[in-house]
Amino acid sequence: MSTWQPGGWLDGARWLPSPNFGERPAGSDVSLVVIHNISLPPDEFGGDWVEDLFLNRLDPAAHPYFATIAGVQVSAHFYVRRDGRVIQFVGCDQRAWHAGQSCWCERDNCNDYSVGIELEGSDTQPFMAEQYAALWPLLAALRARYPLAAIAGHSHVAPGRKTDPGPHFDWAAVAARHADLALPAEVTA
Ligand SMILES: [Zn+2]
Repeated sequence: MSTWQPGGWLDGARWLPSPNFGERPAGSDVSLVVIHNISLPPDEFGGDWVEDLFLNRLDPAAHPYFATIAGVQVSAHFYVRRDGRVIQFVGCDQRAWHAGQSCWCERDNCNDYSVGIELEGSDTQPFMAEQYAALWPLLAALRARYPLAAIAGHSHVAPGRKTDPGPHFDWAAVAARHADLALPAEVTA
């Protein structure tokens, strides 16, 4: 999984193009990866609701929680399922809508200059070995195409507002593989 197609679409991922994207501002380098977790309904795994959410087709009647997020237009570049399958929704040359109001190293609007990776998971449960096995080559592929300088969690770029990827994400493993990148202070402390 290391060959890129025009626009930043990765071979080996399943492509499900989302309408929720825009152009990156002119001159923005893709220098940051933002790690998230997501599950729909919260803390439940295995359904295709996250795909539906990112494709603007989530049925608000299918679960009480879904009614609370009906009409939200969001996306991420990548979604790594519990079994390690990788789904791509937005070409990495484009701006996906994953971080919201955010800031990294005094630079606002992380969506402008980041790639968003959602792991199917929650703050309360460990991620799967299959997900890390998919994440490592994904990060390597991104580094081969983009001038990444940092990897952070959603909680690090939106502190107080977001808690993902949560306490179970293995930042030490990220640090071991990407010691040359800037990582959240709590990771490198
Ligand atoms: Zn998030």
